[in-house]
Amino acid sequence: MPELPEVEVVRRGLERWIAGRTVTEVEVLHPRAVRRHPAGGADFAARLKGQRFEVARRRGKYLWLPLADTGTSVLGHLGMSGQLLVQPEDAPDEKHLRIRMRFEDSAGTELRFVDQRTFGGLSLHAETPDGLPDVIGHIARDPLDPAFDDDAFQSALRLRRTTVKRALLDQSLISGVGNIYADEALWRSRLHYDRPTGTLTRPRSAELLGHVRDVMNAALAVGGTSFDSLYVNVNGESGYFDRSLDAYGREDEPCRRCGTPMRRRAWMNRSSYFCPRCQRPPRATA
Ligand SMILES: [Zn+2]
Repeated sequence: MPELPEVEVVRRGLERWIAGRTVTEVEVLHPRAVRRHPAGGADFAARLKGQRFEVARRRGKYLWLPLADTGTSVLGHLGMSGQLLVQPEDAPDEKHLRIRMRFEDSAGTELRFVDQRTFGGLSLHAETPDGLPDVIGHIARDPLDPAFDDDAFQSALRLRRTTVKRALLDQSLISGVGNIYADEALWRSRLHYDRPTGTLTRPRSAELLGHVRDVMNAALAVGGTSFDSLYVNVNGESGYFDRSLDAYGREDEPCRRCGTPMRRRAWMNRSSYFCPRCQRPPRATA
């Protein structure tokens, strides 16, 4: 699954190559790619025809393209393998091309939604007063959003009767943090994933939030540098970034801080990676 930094790179690509362009034609090549649009592919195509895309927006891992002056947006679901590609019009079709959009200008490029596993897709939604597609109206701001409220987050964290990694993955509390970046931020913060949030002091939660931002910004910096030369590969493919990770995926490898072998534990149908020495389990579950 793409995480926030990967999705942000896709958004930047769309901002650069698609913003301001008017759709002339939409081809839906696989019905599953528009299954979240109940009226079907023909209706989806008809509604987009003649509409102009504004600058792509993102919240957490959600990405959408507002349609100018309509109060509606096209929401992109990247799923496990979805990609939004800006390709020359004469480039051969990808094997798993699902949706194609052509534009009325002479830029010579088109927008393609490619998805091998077809878990992803595009759908059209009315916008909330905040300008979000209605189906993601409940998603909290992400920590890279300038309007993210640090104080409110820290207070909410302390009041929730939950554990710290669950809280980081709770998209109604803070969005955009996935399993990988949660493990990275917890390792940097020396916090065990099962630490009750009620036991976090203000300085500790502030430090954690800082580390969440740092790991995301570091990933963005890597994606940002490879982006200019890869514009035709504007995608949300997992593993797109050459991440350098300190915790995630490092089972049995030495902790980069203390040398203790890192551990992996099954956690909510996923894995949590941590250093048993730097990230002591809370007493209640030890
Ligand atoms: Zn350690």
